[in-house]
Formats: sequence, structure tokens, C-alpha cells
Amino acid sequence: MADIDILISEVGPRDGLQMARSVMPTAFKKRWIAEGVAAGLTEIEVCSFVPPKLVPAMADATEVTEYAATFPGLTVAVLAPNLKGAENAVKAGANKITVPISVSESHNRANVNKSRAESLQEIQNICTLRDALPEDQRPVIEGGLSTVWGCTIEGAVSEDEVLRLSEALIEAGVDEIGLADTTGMADPAGIKRVFTKVYGAVGKEKLAGAHLHNTRGLGLANALAALEVGVTTLDASLAGLGGCPFAPGASGNIVTEDLVYMLEEMGLSTGIDVRALITMRAILEESLPDEPLYGFIAEVGPEKGGKPVERVAAA
Ligand SMILES: [Zn+2]
Repeated sequence: MADIDILISEVGPRDGLQMARSVMPTAFKKRWIAEGVAAGLTEIEVCSFVPPKLVPAMADATEVTEYAATFPGLTVAVLAPNLKGAENAVKAGANKITVPISVSESHNRANVNKSRAESLQEIQNICTLRDALPEDQRPVIEGGLSTVWGCTIEGAVSEDEVLRLSEALIEAGVDEIGLADTTGMADPAGIKRVFTKVYGAVGKEKLAGAHLHNTRGLGLANALAALEVGVTTLDASLAGLGGCPFAPGASGNIVTEDLVYMLEEMGLSTGIDVRALITMRAILEESLPDEPLYGFIAEVGPEKGGKPVERVAAA
């Protein structure tokens, strides 16, 4: 793998598809993974291990994870809210398991049906599971702190609570922490402030990345703010797939194509071919025709100058 400056983790197959109006057939998920790897992605969050009754879109989690695990060099990331999910993820060959816990108690209950204390216990159990495995088979366990910059149920979120839970996650044994703006309520100043505080509390090597939503259009600005305080891993989703049931019309994660374009224009290497990503949008168009696709670079094309597309010429 060529040296990269910024690791982009494609989370669309998990974060995007769990929100989609219809279920993407397994064959298209596999195509997404295969074409994503060919485009240069080195980490894909392929699914979440949750009861299919609750999230039918993730019913093929095992098959999709096993398929992803056949690509050498790909970090196969998954989400698992509990020990049973983590056990299944390990069996299927996941290299990285993100266990979500919300800073907001109400959101945690709504999201994983547990108190935060129960979630911390579950995370500790998952770390025990990891430690019982032979060293070369242990997945990375990430504590995924969500609603860090605000909660749609509780509103403002206390930064002291973010710090307390960050420390509690390290105590529970996670390898790293990720901070998520689940609700798209962050602004660049808040991103810098909270990342700097959490770096101070747990150390730079333990705080892995930023998971940003573009709900209010601040996704790329927030990504840039995160870069400026030293974040080197950013989650993004092809065509900004996803959304929020509480914010109609809002897009999901930051758009992978636009993020790659921005970083590469800044001279930062991602190892990802933006043209290939744009081509990959066909997977979504074919399999989820009702899903809105977001992103600017796909509209105008990655080349500057040259022949503008009609939409630009007409503006
Ligand atoms: Zn998300």
C-alpha cells in the first residue's frame, strides 16, 4: 500500500444502508466492497451485527463480512452493540469492531436499549473476548462515542461527560476511541475544542478518528477543523448515503468523493481514486433507485476547467 496521509474509512455500507429506504441486495454490497478496494479504499465499515428483526438491512452481516475478509490488506470494520454481535463479527473475520456508546443517556437507550453503564460493561466484556483470542486474531476494538456534539433528544451535550466516558472507555480496555457527530450538530470550533480536550485526556494515539455527519452542511468544514488539530482518520460515505429520521432532507455522512477531492487538492494523499468513486455511485443508483445521492464533485467532475457539464454551463 502506498503511503497515505489521511485514512478514509468508508462507512456507507453500514451507516448509509441502515438508514436507506430499501434493503440493498447482498450482491450489490459485495460489488461496493470489491470496487471500493479497487478504488483504493483500505478500510470499509461493511455492516453492523444487530438483530435482523431490528435492522433488516443488516441481515446478511456474516456473509458480507466473510466476503470482505477475502481482500488482503483491507481493514474489515463492523459495528456491534453487544457481546453476541462482537462474537459473530469475530467469527466472520472482522478486523475492527466499533462498539457504540452515546454520551447522551437517552440516545444510548434509544440506540442500543441499554444504559451507558450497561454499555460500558458490555464493552469490557467484548475486550475480554478480544484478549482471549490468539494475538494475531484479535480485532481492534473501538469505543465509538456518539452524540458528542449534541443530541436530538437531550439537546446540548456536556463536554465533561465526553471526557468522563472517553476515560471510562480506555479503562474498559478499548484499543481506541472514535468521536461521532451522530446528529450533525457540530461546528468547526466545537470540533477543535473537543478533540483537543479528549487528546489531552486519553493521549493522541488512543483517539482514532472523526465520524461526521453533514446534516447541516458543515461536514467538510468540520473535517478540516479535525485535520487541523491532528485527526488522521475520517469516516465518510459514498454519495453521502444515509440521513437522519429527525431531519428530513438532510444528507448522511460527509460525502467520500468530495472529501477525497478536498484532501487531494490540499496535497494530502488518500490513496483513493476519486474518479473510481464517482463511477461507483452507479451501484447505489442501480440498487437503491429511491435514495437521494449527494455530492458536488460527482456533479461537476473532478477536473477543473475543461468542458463544463451542462448543469454548470447553465448556472
Ligand atoms: Zn453515523
